[in-house]
Amino acid sequence: KLVLGIETSCDDTGAAVVNSERNVLSDVIHSQTRTHIEMGGVIPLLAQDLHRIHIKEIVDAALSQADVRLKDLDAIAVTVKPGLPPSLSVGLSHAKQLVRESGVQMIPIHHMEAHALTVRLIQRVDFPFLVLLVSGGHCLLALSRDVEDFLLIGKSMDESPGDAFDKTARKLKLKNLPECSGLSGGASIELMAKKGNPAAFKFPHHILGRYPHCNFSFSGLKETARRIIEDEETKHGVEGPNIIPNVADFCASFQFAILHHLARRLQRALLFCDLHNLLPVEKRTLVVSGGVASNMYLREGLQKVCDLHDCHLICPPPKLCTDNGLMIAWNGMEKLLVGKGIVEDFESVTFEGRCPLGKDITDEVA
Ligand code: ATP
Ligand code: FE
Repeated sequence: KLVLGIETSCDDTGAAVVNSERNVLSDVIHSQTRTHIEMGGVIPLLAQDLHRIHIKEIVDAALSQADVRLKDLDAIAVTVKPGLPPSLSVGLSHAKQLVRESGVQMIPIHHMEAHALTVRLIQRVDFPFLVLLVSGGHCLLALSRDVEDFLLIGKSMDESPGDAFDKTARKLKLKNLPECSGLSGGASIELMAKKGNPAAFKFPHHILGRYPHCNFSFSGLKETARRIIEDEETKHGVEGPNIIPNVADFCASFQFAILHHLARRLQRALLFCDLHNLLPVEKRTLVVSGGVASNMYLREGLQKVCDLHDCHLICPPPKLCTDNGLMIAWNGMEKLLVGKGIVEDFESVTFEGRCPLGKDITDEVA
């Protein structure tokens, strides 16, 4: 079987073709990241314009690189939620047009479900497994129980770790450093942190003790970061485009604070799963994905937590962790293979900006 996947939920226009033998026939992406880094953040209507400009050539390239004609496809999978509505609308209307032209079936995709299941394209991971998704738009910890069955164990109560990285990097003016040119905020902080001391600055984190659940919070960390940066700037008389002299120490400490928070929440989630018999104790697996998961320091730190709890950690390669058409194609294929997801009336499919992943833990576990 053959599935085309189309992704336009945020700032990447992606399309890919995958077959049921897990062969990636094509995987094409146009990233707007550079434009948005220059603009200081994703501007939804600009993102929409860029998707409109690129969608046709990206999808056509995915088909021609795969040497597949539209009518050879068994399904067209397209991201419909959650995401930026103007961006989602471009992918969905293009998919509808292709379906009208070809009569191929449509499978609407939940972007976060696709992130959660991408790993199964490249290796065997049986259900149930835990998944931690950390990206620019999300932070969630869920139990993947089946292709369409997810239990949401924790989510961010405010912003995402990617946001905290990006805003802090901007406050630090890291893009003024030649070595950070073209890098995302998170990647810039990871790079600068390599030469820094993670114990140099303290980031007190009150939410950990106060709330007995597995939810995350990053706005406090970001605020603390802002305050420290401003204090350091005043102390060192830094003005204009100049950067604080102890930037490496700061980045290392900030990155450590993010890791500490993720690690503590993960630890609690593992204990929670044991308490409610949600994960088979003899073969626990954690998959970590999302753009922030390309951070090697975070990966290594989470590995230590997993080792302590007899949990097998899997981090898909960075390319599969960020947004791409391939994860959408694969999610479509997973659904197709179990006879799910195909819509009767594709014209009535709509996009949704917000849509939580799966069932909420509070509804299921009393
Ligand atoms: P979503 O996938 O939730 O819609 P998104 O498209 O913004 O959101 P991704 O493309 O998955 O998310 O990831 C982008 C985010 O990942 C950015 O916030 C970026 O700073 C962060 N990021 C990228 N590389 C690293 C890194 N090495 N360390 C930390 N964060 C990183
Ligand atoms: Fe994403």
